[in-house]
Amino acid sequence: IRREIRQAEKMRVISDLAASVSHEVRNPLTVARGFLQLLLTSAKSEKESRFMTLALEELDRAQEIIGDYLAYAKPDADRLEELEVEDEIRYVSGVLQPYALFGEVEIETDCPEHNWVLGERQKFRQCLINLVKNSIEAMPEGGKLRIGIHALQNKVEVRIRDNGTGMTPEEVSRLGKAFYTTKERGTGLGTMVAFSIIKAMNGRIDIHSKKGAGTEFTIVLPKVNPAEKFGSAV
Ligand code: ADP
Ligand code: MG
Repeated sequence: IRREIRQAEKMRVISDLAASVSHEVRNPLTVARGFLQLLLTSAKSEKESRFMTLALEELDRAQEIIGDYLAYAKPDADRLEELEVEDEIRYVSGVLQPYALFGEVEIETDCPEHNWVLGERQKFRQCLINLVKNSIEAMPEGGKLRIGIHALQNKVEVRIRDNGTGMTPEEVSRLGKAFYTTKERGTGLGTMVAFSIIKAMNGRIDIHSKKGAGTEFTIVLPKVNPAEKFGSAV
């Protein structure tokens, strides 16, 4: 048992460290990017501008990794609370609306209110963002993205469905493995992070996909029932 406690403490330290690193690293990255961009406009040679472009691309890559992995990790922000699923979906589809519009993807939500789950808000948002972002990216010609909530007896399901490229069973089986990506500029971290967040919430993610037709991710989470939520008054 003592060993387990020590292990848990170690994990805690690592995750706190990761959170503060991402927090502290994002600002300098943005500043460096700004100056490079400025320099690029007055590059003196073909070679100079090529090197600066490369440096910019690498900075973008670092930013993307932080985005998939730690964008929502904040030191000391991780508090377990009751999350209203509909609220979080509304937040996430708002955040990704410009990205969807840019890709000519229409986001359609069908989300009844009053379904609560237990989790850390920022992490749950990160998970939803990673999955919704993937769905948008799976429809390079545009399309429709549906996000729905289905309430069951003791569970809440969040379904994210696209009519994009879809995956073969073999591709589906590789989801969640670190650095697995089919994208030119992918990180291969998005689904891994999503899976681990949902696992920590005692849930699971089911995937249905058909190559050429589309994909549906179903997040299944234990439901906080209203009697628990409002205490013994109910
Ligand atoms: P990344 O998005 O950086 O490639 P992810 O872990 O988020 O990394 O996704 C891994 C891979 O899984 C993607 O490159 C893509 O091939 C596949 N994938 C994930 N979601 C979908 C989806 N909704 N439709 C089709 N393929 C998907
Ligand atoms: Mg991704």
